[in-house]
Amino acid sequence: MWRAAAVWALRGAPGAGAPRAASGAAAAQLRRRLESELEEIRGAGTWKSERVISSRQGPHLQLAGGGIINFCANNYLGLSSHPEVIRAAVEALEKFGAGLSSVRFICGTQSIHKDLEEKIARFHQREDAILYASCFDANAGIFEALLTPEDAVLSDELNHASIIDGIRLCKANKYRYKHMDMQDLEAKLKEAQKHRLRLVATDGAFSMDGDIAPLREICQLAHKYDALVFIDECHATGFLGPNGRGTDELLGVMDKVTIINSTLGKALGGAAGGYTTGPKPLIDLLRQRSRPYLFSNSLPPAVVGCASKALDLLMESNAIAQSMAAKTQRFRSKMTAAGFTISGKDHPICPVMLGDARLASVMAEDMLNRGIYVIGFSYPVVPKGKARIRVQISAVHSDEDIDRCVEAFTQVGQKHGALP
Ligand code: PLP
Repeated sequence: MWRAAAVWALRGAPGAGAPRAASGAAAAQLRRRLESELEEIRGAGTWKSERVISSRQGPHLQLAGGGIINFCANNYLGLSSHPEVIRAAVEALEKFGAGLSSVRFICGTQSIHKDLEEKIARFHQREDAILYASCFDANAGIFEALLTPEDAVLSDELNHASIIDGIRLCKANKYRYKHMDMQDLEAKLKEAQKHRLRLVATDGAFSMDGDIAPLREICQLAHKYDALVFIDECHATGFLGPNGRGTDELLGVMDKVTIINSTLGKALGGAAGGYTTGPKPLIDLLRQRSRPYLFSNSLPPAVVGCASKALDLLMESNAIAQSMAAKTQRFRSKMTAAGFTISGKDHPICPVMLGDARLASVMAEDMLNRGIYVIGFSYPVVPKGKARIRVQISAVHSDEDIDRCVEAFTQVGQKHGALP
């Protein structure tokens, strides 16, 4: 024992030492290449830095520099730090442990996983549901499992990266239609008639613009050309539609959308996790074939507990979603009255359109100096000339928070010439 202690004293205890750089020519060459790539990213002005938060997720955050009002989380319903959601997580942790150390089909399925899948299917009024570690995984796992080289997938050009990657992994014939352009979708559907099966894939709500896919028209075209419809509801589940079921409920097409993928990591408690919900044979097939499901660990019980409680709260009442809608309306109308252009309609993603990339970046920085946390987006994340600051409203913002944000935008906009 004393020998081990002496060695630790000389070298440091295991796990506590300084990082060791790998030696050898290949490692040195890799380091040079990575450093030059990182320099390129910095030079292009697209470096993404991370601000470190020392409090819970919520409308008011503590950063190293002080407190700020947060307008850039996907915490639309404010459930990330809801006391009942946290309590449910603690109870699940105590009863079911930290995790399963296993994938679902070996020994990783607990009663709470089955209960949550049943609850998700009930929430969306679908036959069944399957859980994933994230919606990224759900999107990565569905197309390859469902589509073969005999089939076709038709995807909106602005779909989320995870849909694009999921489609890349499958061997179906790929068609990309112009963003929300129904004429182009129809042309592509005509072209795709030669294939066995056609699947139209779209985000329900697009996160950069806060705009909502024209699902009624998409479903009509799908009916005309004998296609299925898939929607990614990450920015819709829990709050769009009269009962928060999502875009399909909002637009009255719940019986026409075949497959829904969504996340547990945004409005539904914000912990992590994703899912697919739809016809039972599809869900059964995903359990057999979907690689991110088959080869990745089960969702941790605490995470399951959060999402399950979030769904309970939403199924009991839509008061939280209504409160978020009222705050969204307050922000959008006050900003429009102040002279700003806000993209999208009625969605809590409120992009303040500025056009110029530098203007978006300096204004976002100046907003932070005034204690308002918002993020500027410019090319290549959004098209050239369409730079913006994205503001996301949450049910837990107070009217005063919203008014302070509008006031800061007005001051900063005047200072930088974005307002007359
Ligand atoms: N789909 C869309 C539209 C998203 O915005 C996101 C997250 O940013 C995802 C999928 C991935 O969700 P998750 O964070 O659960 O992996």
